[in-house]
Amino acid sequence: MNLIIATNNKNKAQEIRMILGGYFLVAKTIDEAGIALEVVEDGVSFCENAIKKAEEILAAAEDFEAALADDSGLAVDALGGAPGIYSARYANSGHDDSANNEKLLREMAGVSNRTCRFVCAVALARRGKPTLCVEGACEGVLLAEPAGEGGFGYDPLFYYKPAKCSFAQMAKEQKNKISHRRAALELLKDRLALEEQE
Ligand code: IMP
Repeated sequence: MNLIIATNNKNKAQEIRMILGGYFLVAKTIDEAGIALEVVEDGVSFCENAIKKAEEILAAAEDFEAALADDSGLAVDALGGAPGIYSARYANSGHDDSANNEKLLREMAGVSNRTCRFVCAVALARRGKPTLCVEGACEGVLLAEPAGEGGFGYDPLFYYKPAKCSFAQMAKEQKNKISHRRAALELLKDRLALEEQE
C-alpha cells in the first residue's frame, strides 16, 4: 500500500518507520511528498485527532492510497490525565519540549502519586474503505527531574520500570519494542490482517 505518514514531527516519523519496517510499500512523510497542510487538532480524544489528520492529509495527497496519522501524548493520573491530548502545547502553543517538561515538573512538585502513561492513537485513512483507529499505551512513572539525552518530548521524564531507566536513556530500538506507538501499530497490523481474512 502506497502510504503517506501524516506528521511533521521527525521523531515520530522515524519511530513509525522503524516500527513498520517494510510493512507498507512506500512510506513518505508529508514533507517528503511536498504537502504543506496544517491540520487543526480540535478533537476531544486522541483517536478523533488522529482520524482528522489522516483523512485531511489523504484528501490532499492524491498520489497516495492511504494516510497514517499518530496522535499521542502523556496522561498523568494525579493531573486527571493531563497533559493528554494537549501534550504538544501544554506550556504554550510553540510545541516547546523543554517548556512542556518544566511546566509538568512544576505542576507535579511534591505530588507522590506519579503514575502516568504514554498513549498513542494511530489512524489509517484509505480510499474507498472506512478509516481505522487503534490506541496503544505504555505505563510509566513521572520522574522528579529529567534523565537522559535521547528521545524527544516527555521522554526524559518518563521512567519505564521494566528497563529501570527513562525513555530518553534507552536506545531507539529498545524504546520502539515496547512503546505506546509500537503497541498501537501492532494493533493496526492485527486489524488489517483480520480484514484480509474476512
Ligand atoms: P501530537 O503531535 O499532537 O500527537 O503531540 C504529541 C506530543 O506528545 C509530542 O509533542 C510530545 O510532547 C508527546 N509525545 C508523544 N509521543 C511521545 C513519545 O514517544 N515520547 C515523548 N513524548 C511524546
